[in-house]
Amino acid sequence: MAAQLGNENAVTGARLQLVACGRDLLARGLLSQTSGNLSVRIDEDTLCITPSAMPYDQIEAGDIVVTDARGNVRSGTRRPSSETPLHCLVYASRPDVAAIVHTHSPHATTLAVLGLPIPAVHYLIAVTKTTLIQVAPYATYGTDELARNVRAAFGAPARAVLIANHGVVTAAPTLAEAAGVAESVETLAGLYYRALAVGKPLILSDEQMAQVLAKHEHY
Ligand SMILES: [Zn+2]
Repeated sequence: MAAQLGNENAVTGARLQLVACGRDLLARGLLSQTSGNLSVRIDEDTLCITPSAMPYDQIEAGDIVVTDARGNVRSGTRRPSSETPLHCLVYASRPDVAAIVHTHSPHATTLAVLGLPIPAVHYLIAVTKTTLIQVAPYATYGTDELARNVRAAFGAPARAVLIANHGVVTAAPTLAEAAGVAESVETLAGLYYRALAVGKPLILSDEQMAQVLAKHEHY
């Protein structure tokens, strides 16, 4: 009973967090209209995820959908995000993460359209826990094929992956961290895009990035 109550409190908290985070990412220009989706894993068989086809400034806590680990709806009156299979598969393969943010943020998506992985153009890439943000191959949105492509390109400990001709996915232990990584990836993508537009970007070496990653780990 106590465990169940704890779970209910966690669901309520996650619903509020997802609503606030969606509005915040909308205000920062990372989300627009109804594109993108956010989720939080409460326990191994409980996820909270944003609803399908609702603008972020209209989503209320009661619109957040609770599903099991396979995406079957447990409670909520809305349909869960069309990318629920992607969220479920990433969680299944990544016990190290408990929150996922998916956006079509403009610069990250521009590089995804070009099929360009993002290299270490700035030490800020350390927040993604990788030195090269990979691009998962394209497949139709909402499909199991897309979910499998993202899972395959999104090995631990990486916290970000692009999806060809689609957008970006970030994952982290908390929703605040996943949202922060999404914003950092958009910044990195903007820098890389602008640098490519005028010349040949200098990329930080493995040694330079090893020092940053060691410092970041300590921090
Ligand atoms: Zn999408």
